[in-house]
Amino acid sequence: MKLEHSYDELMVEIQKYMSPDSVQLVQRAYEFAHSAHKEQVRKSGDPYISHPVEVAYILAELGQDPAAVSAGLLHDTIEDTSVTKEHIVTMFGEDIYNLVEGVTKLGKIYFESKEEEQAENFRKMFLAMAKDLRVVIIKLADRLHNMRTLKHLRKEKQILISRETREIFSPLAHRLGMWSLKWELEDYAFYYLQHEEFQRIKKLVSLRRDEREMVVQTVIDDLTKAVHSAEITAKIFGRPKHFFSIYKKLVSQNLSFDELFDTLGVRIIVEDLKECYSVLGVVHSGYKPLAGRFKDYIAMPKSNLYQSLHTTVMGRFGKPVEIQIRTKEMHQIAEYGIAAHWRYKEGASQSNFDGDFAWLRQILESEKEGTAPKDFLQNLKLDLFIDEVFVFTPKGDVQVLPKGASPIDFAYKIHSEIGHCYVGAKINSQIVNASYRLQSGDRIEILTSKTPNPKLDWLNVVHTRQAKTKIKQWFKRQNQQDTINKGKEKLERFLVFLGFVPRDVLTKDLADKFVAYVGVQRLEELYCGLAEGDISTREIEVAVERLLKREPQHRPAVLPPPSKASQKNGINEIKVLGETNVLVTIPKCCSPVPGDAIVGYVTTGRGVAVHQTDCPNILGLSDADRPRLVDVEWSLASSDKLFRATIQIEAFDRIGILEDIIHRITDTKTNIQEIRTKTARAGGRMKAVITVNIRDIQQLNRIRQAVALVADVYSIQRGAK
Ligand code: MN
Repeated sequence: MKLEHSYDELMVEIQKYMSPDSVQLVQRAYEFAHSAHKEQVRKSGDPYISHPVEVAYILAELGQDPAAVSAGLLHDTIEDTSVTKEHIVTMFGEDIYNLVEGVTKLGKIYFESKEEEQAENFRKMFLAMAKDLRVVIIKLADRLHNMRTLKHLRKEKQILISRETREIFSPLAHRLGMWSLKWELEDYAFYYLQHEEFQRIKKLVSLRRDEREMVVQTVIDDLTKAVHSAEITAKIFGRPKHFFSIYKKLVSQNLSFDELFDTLGVRIIVEDLKECYSVLGVVHSGYKPLAGRFKDYIAMPKSNLYQSLHTTVMGRFGKPVEIQIRTKEMHQIAEYGIAAHWRYKEGASQSNFDGDFAWLRQILESEKEGTAPKDFLQNLKLDLFIDEVFVFTPKGDVQVLPKGASPIDFAYKIHSEIGHCYVGAKINSQIVNASYRLQSGDRIEILTSKTPNPKLDWLNVVHTRQAKTKIKQWFKRQNQQDTINKGKEKLERFLVFLGFVPRDVLTKDLADKFVAYVGVQRLEELYCGLAEGDISTREIEVAVERLLKREPQHRPAVLPPPSKASQKNGINEIKVLGETNVLVTIPKCCSPVPGDAIVGYVTTGRGVAVHQTDCPNILGLSDADRPRLVDVEWSLASSDKLFRATIQIEAFDRIGILEDIIHRITDTKTNIQEIRTKTARAGGRMKAVITVNIRDIQQLNRIRQAVALVADVYSIQRGAK
């Protein structure tokens, strides 16, 4: 293989199949690229322009159209030089610009992940992003030339690029049926990645070469004579062997080298289809065919529309020879695949491609339906993966999502917890909102909160069923959690009502037995049952009494039927955990009155003591006693019940001051229950502690305001200290 081609050679190649106008276009592209890359030099020391010229040459060999060959010349100008989009559009038009831009974009994909499945995703993404098939062909030509000149790069680069070639580019060429390109890429990758094996195979092949070539050459000579005497024009040659494919066969089929080389290959290329069968007749009359080895892939093409006649005959020296017979056109397709189908014919109309569409679809293993073949080909679009987008994780893995997917879909695809905790996303380092639609090639990073936080709105944004289902499940679970919480509250309230400290009953040990008594499996079920009314408080009461051997620890917090008790104790004014008729006491330490902030304390045997929240006895509770605190509240129901409140008044003593104070208090229609006074003779001050019976905090405030008006009073405080 000749590796260096001059611009003149490129010209010769394209003049074989392009019109003068098209040749001129390619010339202009060359001049443009030449001046753009003027100062640049390749690692090999060659002027940079040698690379685009080689790429264009490969494309010309493949018979690609003038736009593709021109784009091959221009393919590195945007990336590596100061040339802009406008330059290229003005000089060469949108079509060529789009090709150049497509190749540039593909050049920016970094194939980081190495797993098989990931590689397949990369290949699909590659095709999806290329949009125009010619872009893929140009990119493959670019890669081929880079592999041919890889020796000039550093060792690590060689390994990296070779691995990428083996995992992404050569399978891609395979998929596109571009066999000769695939084999060449594979052999270069083999050379750099498994150098010792490569050398071993190469040596083995060359050791056998003489013997092999002699056998093959006799067959070729014999056949050439026979075919000529049948007045058929044919090219007959030995089949090239590819080192990597030999290596793979040795490894995967576990063949010995002798076995592998037992079969020799000869290929016969003829002008038309009829001649294929004529030549087959010639072959079979000259050599003995081996039974069961004839295959007619012309009548029954392979799924990629590969066509050829295969037969194996016994050659001289007892060596079997496999012979392939095909037309030029079939050969082109066999060697160049999709590129052969795109061979440029000056003035050919697009509709000529119609018949090829099925073949193209099969080669690309597409199962997409509903695309009109004509549109597909007119646009030369690779929309086969139209329903999918390929995006990168921050680590460089590829994820495949349906087209229209949002960042939230991506988050749920990675993990449902990441979905639940989604707060935002960055695409290529830019913050986007949730309604953003992912594009192939996006690098996406999900921002998360510490706690789950799904929104119902998300259901309008997400596209995948997976995300929808998970969001709905979360909300369902959330509702269940609400029910559980309600049931839990109800149970605790009821336990207090029964005279228990909930914490004492719901210990780990007791809780299991407790739920068993009620007849459910788990505490959560009990909570739900209670909240939804499936389990009655009576059942709870029975269970608790059975469990705790009848006697609640602090008996009796609960009062028998409310009638007498409520009158006697006035508990109707205070609700404990939302329940009235719980026995409450109002201790003298702080004597709360309606309107005061209050808290309950479950006492041992004296019901719930209701204190002001800032009562020193409450503030001073030990941690062990804190769980005994329960929520209490003043009942809103109006009542005639009067509460004790104590105020402490300090004043400068004078005759008649106590009388003034008492007068002011009775003016507020308040009944005074007790007065204690103390006079400190020395300082001329007096202190009065007055206990009043009042309805609520407002009445107390009125008293304070009234007393404050008495001359010489300087302090009025709640409580007796
Ligand atoms: Mn390049």
